[in-house]
Amino acid sequence: MTLRLALLGATGSIGRAALEVVRHHPDRLSVTTLAAQGRKPEALAALARETGARLVAVTDPAAAAALARALPGGVEVAVGAEGLIAAATHPEVDRVVAAVVGAAGLPPVHAALAAGKGVALANKESMVVAGPLLNALAAASGAEIVPVDSEHSALHQALRGGRPAEVRQLLLTASGGPFLRRDAASFDAIRVEEALAHPTWSMGAKITIDSATLVNKGLELIEAAHLFAIPPERIGVVVHPQSIVHSFVEFIDGSLLAQLSVNDMIFPVQYALAYPERWENTFPRLDPAALGTLEFLPLDRARFPAVELARSALAAGQSAPAVLNAANEEAVHAFLDRRIRFPAIVETVRRVLERHDPAPVGSLEAALAWDAWGRARAREALAALAP
Ligand code: NDP
Ligand code: MG
Repeated sequence: MTLRLALLGATGSIGRAALEVVRHHPDRLSVTTLAAQGRKPEALAALARETGARLVAVTDPAAAAALARALPGGVEVAVGAEGLIAAATHPEVDRVVAAVVGAAGLPPVHAALAAGKGVALANKESMVVAGPLLNALAAASGAEIVPVDSEHSALHQALRGGRPAEVRQLLLTASGGPFLRRDAASFDAIRVEEALAHPTWSMGAKITIDSATLVNKGLELIEAAHLFAIPPERIGVVVHPQSIVHSFVEFIDGSLLAQLSVNDMIFPVQYALAYPERWENTFPRLDPAALGTLEFLPLDRARFPAVELARSALAAGQSAPAVLNAANEEAVHAFLDRRIRFPAIVETVRRVLERHDPAPVGSLEAALAWDAWGRARAREALAALAP
């Protein structure tokens, strides 16, 4: 019996990594459903032919007709937000790879956990928007959330080295992005192409911009706090430009355990699919002797205030992280559209959070309502910040 997967975000960067892992382990993994927004219906149809998927979902209704034409007979097409949920909760799915980008990925993750399906979670935004809610659902249904984000995969692995009470702190590594050494005085002049040129990882556009602003590390701080039930003051960030050490756990006896691998997402994806096992593969191996120097530096909070902004949103709690995420998604979109300058991304998030009074997020509907509230306030702030 193979582990039958739902691949949400199948046409994206993590989706591609997941498919590579599936191709590598045909005896262990299979794909039951595929889902994407629908920008590339032919590519999705080709994946359906390759994997033998039973159902393909697109959230964009305009893509449905082209998809249906390109699909082999007998493959079900599901459309819209409900289509994404149908892909996540299909009765023949054992584990869901959540790799949609943004808060759009929350409803299917919520539905998968409610249905008792394990989730390999790349879509960190869903944990940021509704972490406590998702944890409660997982606890109630017995479904497990295993992180795909490389830092959290590293922490998940290193945490197996001790008991929760023995953990002093989690230390997230951050590459520092393309502007690690750039003078803040010239941040205003940063072009979209420069921000999209990540030094160590090849990823989708949104997370690549998040990595340039360091908002990504802020989102990861919130993600780690929820995944591992650790308060924010016990989660640190250290800059590590080579992206080889994927994070550290510091234990109370002064020992630090780290996880290292080649910087390719196939490793954390395979870990999340194999867990609690480990599987042999022929992926590129890490040769420490060939690495040369690995650097570790403190994060410059003055040039990159995003991590502290996320820390304060997490401390404020309730709806504040959802609002932070929503404002950031809108601002990144505006930057990619060349409507605002680079520093205005984090400035938008700061302004929206300043206007926000945190309120409880007791349901998916409440989470989505706060997401919508954050987006509306962000659009107002963005209009004021446009040059
Ligand atoms: P990409 O932009 O490369 O891919 C996004 C995928 O999500 C595409 O398949 C896209 O479909 C689909 N999608 C986008 N919007 C929707 C929607 N509204 N409904 C359904 N599907 C949608 O993103 P990444 O793969 O880089 O990132 C995916 C997630 O993984 C993000 O949350 C990111 O933070 C996280 N992550 C990514 C890492 C990486 O290395 N890339 C590392 C760690 C975490 P379509 O092609 O049709 O638009
Ligand atoms: Mg990461």
